[in-house]
Amino acid sequence: MSLFAIIALALILARAVTELWLSRLNQRHVRTHRNEVPPVFRGVMDESMYRRSIDYTLARSRFGNIVNVFDAVVLVAVLFSGLLPWAFGKFSARFGTSILAMAGFLFVTGIALSIPGLPFAWYAQFKIEGRFGFNTTSTKIWIVDRLKGLLIAALLGYPLLVLVLKLIEWTGASWWLWAAAVVVAFQLLMLLIAPAIIMPLFNKFTPLAEGAFRERLFALARRTGFPTRSIEVMDGSKRSRHSNAFFTGFGRFRKIVLFDTLIAQLTEPEVESVLAHEIGHYKKCHIVKMVSASIAGVFVAFAAIAWLARQQWFYPAFGFQHQTGFAAANIVPAILLFALLAETLGFWFSPLIHFWSRRFEFEADAFARVAMGEKQSLIQALRKLSEKNLSNLTPHPLYSGFYYSHPTLLERERALQAGA
Ligand SMILES: [Zn+2]
Repeated sequence: MSLFAIIALALILARAVTELWLSRLNQRHVRTHRNEVPPVFRGVMDESMYRRSIDYTLARSRFGNIVNVFDAVVLVAVLFSGLLPWAFGKFSARFGTSILAMAGFLFVTGIALSIPGLPFAWYAQFKIEGRFGFNTTSTKIWIVDRLKGLLIAALLGYPLLVLVLKLIEWTGASWWLWAAAVVVAFQLLMLLIAPAIIMPLFNKFTPLAEGAFRERLFALARRTGFPTRSIEVMDGSKRSRHSNAFFTGFGRFRKIVLFDTLIAQLTEPEVESVLAHEIGHYKKCHIVKMVSASIAGVFVAFAAIAWLARQQWFYPAFGFQHQTGFAAANIVPAILLFALLAETLGFWFSPLIHFWSRRFEFEADAFARVAMGEKQSLIQALRKLSEKNLSNLTPHPLYSGFYYSHPTLLERERALQAGA
């Protein structure tokens, strides 16, 4: 094994071990609080609901451990068994090394590698979510969702791959800059058209019915300087009893979306406060900052792929032959290997990203407090959502610090109380 192969293997194993360790830490922490609702949460959850939230947390955590170990084993097997060079050789021999064939290889390999995870996704949805009363997805919807996803990937993803590979031949050494620019342009286009074209393939969106409630939300949008044409209700209950709200699109395509489950669970002032929080994300430029970071990420990723493909040690570490020159067939293995390794590398940066995201949540909460002129509605809304979603109220601080994109209920309440 080459040095680089050993480093890659060590990173994959270190990730799996870290995840298991954090999970164990969290499970223990949660168990020590099992028998009594912590005093600060007495008004939030009753005894039986609290117990249920702990059982839900533990069930998901145990299942997560199995998935993490399985994923690590599959990744190691795929990377180091020689499967990829073998498949690449067979595929090239059969279909050639044209751009269309090479894009096809990446596409087919991507689909094939997603298959081992399907039974786990099925189990999580129907067994775990089902056991705790969250699942409302039928088997038919679940299967059709996956087929629609596959179709969208074929219609949008495959042509994008073809274009990226074409750029290698057209532009030579600077291909990665062009490729990154094209991928970024594609992502921005998707942000624009997804709400109009893709999301309706999965859910039904209906404008919020005329009346006092609708007026109340539009009044909030006006006074916070967030002009919106429509507020729509999404049939989230088609798949799950979990609840959410978000806004999507840019400029005149922008719309605010409330899950039907959210409207069913919260009072009108509470929904208004959740919407104020969402508007806060927009007004505080969180969306622009996130999108900018992701654009930078795309450029870094393509620069890394181009650099790795030039290194003499990179391909042999995974059983491929080192290649020079700017033909698609020389770069395709690097794209594939990078895609497989990206998550392993990204994992170590995730606490930083989550820290950043939690800061945004605090800012959006503070914005909502000012916009509402009171904090009680938002606090009530957050409490109810924690209860309805069986959130873990007592995660281990290291665990929530590593994984949580949102602060815990207690942290958010404290910040809201301290704010005024
Ligand atoms: Zn938020």
